[in-house]
Amino acid sequence: MTPAIKIPPAVQSKLAKLGIHAPFDLVLHLPLRYEDETQITRVENLLPGETAQVEGEIIHSEVMYRPRRSLVCQLQDASGIVFLRFLNFYPSQQKQLAIGKTIRALGEAREGYFGMEMVHPKCHTGGENKALKQALTPVYPTTAGLPQLTLRKHILAALNTVELPDTLPAALLNKLRLPAFDASVQLLHNPPPQIDEEALLERAHPAWRRIKFDELLAQQLSMRVHYRKRHERIAPQLLARDTHAPALRKALPFSLTRAQEKVLQEIRHDLAQAHPMQRLLQGDVGSGKTVVAALAALQAIENGYQVAFMAPTEILAEQHYLKLRDWMEPLGISPVWLSGSLKKKDKTLAAERIAQGETQIAIGTHALFQKDVEFSKLGLVIVDEQHKFGVQQRLALRNKGTSAVGRDGDSPLSNSLPQAGERANVKGAIDFFPHQLMMSATPIPRTLAMSYYADLDVSVIDELPPGRTPIVTKLINDARREEVFERVRAACLKNRQAYWVCPLIDESEALELQTAIDTHETLTQIFPELSVGLVHGKMDNAEKARVMAAFKAGEIHLLVATTVIEVGVDVPNASLMVIEHAERMGLAQLHQLRGRVGRGAAESLCVLLFQKPLSELARARLKIIFENTDGFEIAQQDLRLRGPGELLGARQSGVAMLRFADINEDATLLETARNLADELLRDTPEVAHAHLQRWMANKPDFLHA
Ligand code: ADP
Ligand code: MG
Repeated sequence: MTPAIKIPPAVQSKLAKLGIHAPFDLVLHLPLRYEDETQITRVENLLPGETAQVEGEIIHSEVMYRPRRSLVCQLQDASGIVFLRFLNFYPSQQKQLAIGKTIRALGEAREGYFGMEMVHPKCHTGGENKALKQALTPVYPTTAGLPQLTLRKHILAALNTVELPDTLPAALLNKLRLPAFDASVQLLHNPPPQIDEEALLERAHPAWRRIKFDELLAQQLSMRVHYRKRHERIAPQLLARDTHAPALRKALPFSLTRAQEKVLQEIRHDLAQAHPMQRLLQGDVGSGKTVVAALAALQAIENGYQVAFMAPTEILAEQHYLKLRDWMEPLGISPVWLSGSLKKKDKTLAAERIAQGETQIAIGTHALFQKDVEFSKLGLVIVDEQHKFGVQQRLALRNKGTSAVGRDGDSPLSNSLPQAGERANVKGAIDFFPHQLMMSATPIPRTLAMSYYADLDVSVIDELPPGRTPIVTKLINDARREEVFERVRAACLKNRQAYWVCPLIDESEALELQTAIDTHETLTQIFPELSVGLVHGKMDNAEKARVMAAFKAGEIHLLVATTVIEVGVDVPNASLMVIEHAERMGLAQLHQLRGRVGRGAAESLCVLLFQKPLSELARARLKIIFENTDGFEIAQQDLRLRGPGELLGARQSGVAMLRFADINEDATLLETARNLADELLRDTPEVAHAHLQRWMANKPDFLHA
């Protein structure tokens, strides 16, 4: 806090709870709503449902005991009588509202038993010499122990002391038809009585638009600054030499889709640049991202550089390892497998081969980026299902290599730390940073991509390979599970394979595990003629791998699984999936799970078992997943349902969330901010800097994974 504003420590700690740490935070603590104490309404003009202020004399005051204990007063003005009713009251209030007192009461009028009444109105002593307020009274979000009056006083003080020069030039504001910042803030805290209150509450007023625009612009600027900083680094130029890639293409039993070709071109172009690629490859489940990644990897290998290919789970990493080994061994390339579950001896061996540069491509879990793994010539890092990596893992990644390169300081314009796995350990004077390809099957709606992912380049695979039969989704009440058993039996006897997904149990991993084990036992008894397998997260990795291999080979008909199979698992012959307690799962998860089937030519069925009663949210989710198969559409609806926080997943805790703007409702402002950010950084960096200083000065460093 600046010395100009004295705030007692007790109040400061309350303010901190509201996220207020500096005078500018007070300025930006905007009202939730307003009370109109600028005028007095005659009692005869009160309308039910409308909030108004009346003034008059208390002519009756009594504590009633029926239907509940309450204080009931009658306030009379020249035009009539209104009842004031208090269910909870203090003796002091009773005294304040004694017969004969002149009172101003502000509250919502409604038709009561005796006539017009106000329940729990806000009361002041009135009278001729009490001036009416000149502006609407702001009501702020607050916290226990911090009264509105105190909060209001400190905000007012901040508004009177903090200098708020505009960060944007007047000509630009004119062009954008936005009001000045200072005037906007003042207006929102103290709106004149004749203002369009509706527009304020809906945040549609020009003053609100200015605040939202500034916030969006700050977010865009900071993301684009990161983007530019990374582009200033040096990466190895991985030219498309095509010594290996054509052979892999020839060996594939399919040709790439138009969409795969398009994204591959974008990646190949990026890899050939002398600065590190930061590309997010998005594609719905089953769109064929793996083969694109493999071809990108070959381009690095063709240039004599190493590739690290990382997946979030052992099952998925191992599946990639097996697939890439099949694809690459005929080309004379032997991938190395590295995961946390390897024996120490094998791990050391793998790490040695990586360090000596014998390994061209290492595939594994985040164990790939542990301290003791040093790549000799890392050119490309591929991260599959990047949204699945937790904050901790991304931090570990990011901090790898920092000591060698050093921090660039804490100013928002230079707060980008070297990112882990980014800095290649190349001997010599120059620090090389590897290229990064991140993949995600959780589709990111356009507005989200434009805002929270503005620091990345994005490629989208927007079509599925041909020959897929659409998945049929059925919602079935758990009470009818017997029918589902018969469907599973019939399908498996026709040589189809099925998944049985056990419910998510939030409170307890142990319970979740037990449920899976119990379900496996029950289903084994129900289907004596079938081979029923079990896979869950707590299983030891070798065992997990064995079960998955058996399922892939068709030796297991029905695989009981926890949600560990959610990401990436690819067994094309599996065409039936049953998900228990689907009402507990999120949309992204349901979509991911369902994407495990529908990968072959056979028609696939996904049965969502649900148990009543359904919450409103669960009902909405089931309806969306039932009606849609397109992941982008589902994500878009999910965004509408829950807002961006949840969709961002792990990324959320690393990115400053928007407080004022709403990326759905303010999509146009967002687009304008996006374009302006690049323009400012290019043409008037000092303006960009001033704007960032104002908005980001106190923000924690962003995480960028
Ligand atoms: P995801 O994008 O979900 O990671 P995968 O890479 O696992 O998808 O691909 C899903 C399946 O589609 C795999 O069996 C893969 O071999 C196959 N596939 C990929 N590209 C094509 C294509 N162009 N034509 C036919 N099948 C393809
Ligand atoms: Mg995948």
